[in-house]
Amino acid sequence: MEFSSRARQRHTRLAGDRRDPYPHSLQFYQEPPTESISLAEFESFAVDRLRLLKVVENLGVSHVRSSDLYKTKLEAEFRRLKFPYRALAEDDYDARRKDHISHFILRLAYCQSEELRRWFLQQEMDLFRYRFNELTEGLRQKFLEHVNLKFEAVSMLLPGFLRAQDIPVSSSVGLSDAVDLFRARRVFIKDGFAFVPLKDIDAIVLNNYRQKLSKALALTARSLPSIQSDERLQPLLNHLSHSYVGPDYSAQKNTGKISLEHIDALSVKSFPLCMRQLHRALRDNHHLRHGGRMQYGLFLKGIGLTLEQALEFWKKEFIRGKVDADKFDKGYAYSIRHSYGKEGKRTDYTPYSCMKIIMSNPPSQGDYHGCPFRHSEPELLKQKLQSYKIPPSGIAQILDLVKGMHYQLACQKYFELTHDLDDIGFSLNHPNQYFAESQKLLTGGRELKKEPSHLGNSQQKSNSSQESMTSTSTPTSSNTTADAELEGLEAYFTED
Ligand code: SF4
Repeated sequence: MEFSSRARQRHTRLAGDRRDPYPHSLQFYQEPPTESISLAEFESFAVDRLRLLKVVENLGVSHVRSSDLYKTKLEAEFRRLKFPYRALAEDDYDARRKDHISHFILRLAYCQSEELRRWFLQQEMDLFRYRFNELTEGLRQKFLEHVNLKFEAVSMLLPGFLRAQDIPVSSSVGLSDAVDLFRARRVFIKDGFAFVPLKDIDAIVLNNYRQKLSKALALTARSLPSIQSDERLQPLLNHLSHSYVGPDYSAQKNTGKISLEHIDALSVKSFPLCMRQLHRALRDNHHLRHGGRMQYGLFLKGIGLTLEQALEFWKKEFIRGKVDADKFDKGYAYSIRHSYGKEGKRTDYTPYSCMKIIMSNPPSQGDYHGCPFRHSEPELLKQKLQSYKIPPSGIAQILDLVKGMHYQLACQKYFELTHDLDDIGFSLNHPNQYFAESQKLLTGGRELKKEPSHLGNSQQKSNSSQESMTSTSTPTSSNTTADAELEGLEAYFTED
């Protein structure tokens, strides 16, 4: 892909017959896009696909994939985000183009580690499965021809298990493509041909797609060094792979609405597990190492602690441990003021999203930051959940989700169990979203009582366009600048 301001102009010229580049609504994504594209379009396409993949992940663990509800919800998301969801009419060129380009952008972003690759592959496979199964018989045949997977339909009876069915036979698909069916004894091998029931053909196509995509991700990963040297691209790709596509919870709408004496109770009722763990560790040890202070400090800021409250909160706790008041004022107070945008570059730092917590800076010995669903040993997590009175069946469900690497979904399950809900009703992406949704539920949508204090006013954010604390707000654009600046802030937190 190229990036230039002439992108649109060139694109119009290139388009020609707009059906040519995308004869099918479905693709194996074998050819990367070659047209120019603006950085703004690059980012918006990528964010939309990421949203789609997150919905795919969410639906995949909460519904049976072949159920009507799964299909209806996924189709609604396709429509909303303007991706091709079916074999649409010829005029869906823009949707097909978006589908093509966005896939390759995320491929670049998600080839960077084994964990990212596995997540991306899983969601793309589910996406493909849904779309392939939605095609009519005629369109399936056309698609298969297009991707050189030609099956020859035969009508015959085979001994024993394939009775009275139309059985396509393929000479172009090797046994490796039918390996899952072979294991399940759902394929008949004769004279070097694999005879497969028509209804199982999707397993072969999916297997073929998985192999191609898996190989393509590995190849893309090899070209990473050259991509990483592109200073425009690398921050965007990094941001996408740690991405969170929702409000940034930097809004100060709730500033001053939290009382320090309520934090203990709130940590039990409304904090996600990561923040509950950090709060407990702080109370027990009267100290948190810098990763914990960053993660927890910005979360508290996001739920409404003013700068003065934050200084008071951290100081009270730290001087109960090994840090005296003087050391706190000289060392730690500066970094807290910095995180509130009152020192240094005066950047107003935003709380970390789940993806950032899950994907970066894993905790080491003596650290309490990170995501317990991602970073705790299953046995430890189990004990923690038991101590929080989560019922055994709920713990088993959470551990299953963790095993499948669905950390945010495990957290959603924890939310449901601790709030006595059957269905959380939102997609969890951010610890502050967890808090906001919990408070909405527990207070019946009532506003938190504002603390009568002079403290809040001085903390009102000057930028009134900031988003409010609601999970339904429009997404923010990339926080890459803020991310880069955050690295600067981390330098201030060098003391353990
Ligand atoms: Fe915290 Fe997000 Fe992990 Fe939940 S999923 S514990 S909110 S980081």
